Amino acid sequence: MDNDAYILLGANLGYKKETFSRARTMIAKEAGMIVSASSLYQTQPWGFESNDIFLNQALLVNTSLDAKALLKVLLKIEETLGRKRNGKGYESRTIDIDILFFNNEIIETDVLTVPHPRMHLRNFALEPMAELAPDFLHPVLNKTMTELKQCCPDRHKVLVFEEQHVGLESL
Ligand code: ADP
Ligand code: MG
Repeated sequence: MDNDAYILLGANLGYKKETFSRARTMIAKEAGMIVSASSLYQTQPWGFESNDIFLNQALLVNTSLDAKALLKVLLKIEETLGRKRNGKGYESRTIDIDILFFNNEIIETDVLTVPHPRMHLRNFALEPMAELAPDFLHPVLNKTMTELKQCCPDRHKVLVFEEQHVGLESL
């Protein structure tokens, strides 16, 4: 059976746009078809101080993998693209790939929590999601992406860096 996964790319180190492009290529090859993609957003670091601005983008991926297998593939792609973790919480990164939603499923295991537990608190996730799927209903909070964006208390700035108006072939 095919699954619809909403994924969020994030980066604040290195050649972010180029890294995203490589990440999308690998996701399409190893996880499944990228059905749609949001604009690229420039966003303020959240939860830590840094002068390195983030780039974020949401993707809708159609995958035959289950959620656990998808996470494994995404973590491997992070590693290939040079992600290093120091294990001390939120930090600068060359690439972060999170699963925001997996169909309408609610998943709670030691390695995976879906919907992503903090996505509704973060403009950098809500803004691209509201562009990609404004009416998508958060399966726990029962609010659409647009509604969540409107009531989110986050004051971090999120700006469109590059609008997504090209065909999928040039993603
Ligand atoms: P963060 O994205 O919060 O900065 P990391 O990218 O370092 O943190 O991820 C740490 C771990 O979070 C991953 O190894 C993964 O097992 C776990 N995790 C739990 N839920 C999710 C999710 N929805 N998407 C991605 N990773 C998740
Ligand atoms: Mg992550």
